[in-house]
Amino acid sequence: MSSMDKKMIVRQFADLLPTMKRLPFITDDEMLELYGAEVLETVAKLDKFGREQELCENCRDRCCALVKCELYLLEFGQCPVFELRPPICRLHYCHKFFPQDDTDLKELSDVFFDGLLLSQSRGDQRVDLFDSPPLARCAPGFIQSVMPVIEAVKEKQVTPGEAIEKIRQQAEKFRMLQL
Ligand code: SF4
Ligand code: SF4
Repeated sequence: MSSMDKKMIVRQFADLLPTMKRLPFITDDEMLELYGAEVLETVAKLDKFGREQELCENCRDRCCALVKCELYLLEFGQCPVFELRPPICRLHYCHKFFPQDDTDLKELSDVFFDGLLLSQSRGDQRVDLFDSPPLARCAPGFIQSVMPVIEAVKEKQVTPGEAIEKIRQQAEKFRMLQL
């Protein structure tokens, strides 16, 4: 991303944010709409590197646990709302992804924060939805509906696969209710 492109990406983000009614959950298509192809190409490149190096699979200091995400459970083995995970989950990469050159990290960080700053300066209240996970503040009803399922997995009353399906359905329902 060049600095000119970044300015355009940030402006596009702030222009489109008011149309994003279903945050904090977001789809791949909505991410593309909001941030544009250039950002998602960088994300795809980093994801590929992470998969090749098995960074997240073998990670013992999961960032999901560090941010106290209510959906994080070792038994799940993956994000239960992977296809709908919030923007910060999609744009955050830890130092393990940048063994030599952290240019991509800085650029992703710039577009993320500059976009939010511009939106904030326009009075867009949606910027608060980007400070999530944890999800309870932005989606209290959703968290209330899925906590019993997560507790049931811990008690081994429900399999992780069944719980993931239920959580995913609740996230879809939450998104539908935002319209
Ligand atoms: S981004 Fe880094 S801290 Fe987070 S799960 Fe992957 S390797 Fe672990
Ligand atoms: S919503 Fe984000 S923080 Fe929570 S489990 Fe999924 S990827 Fe991790």
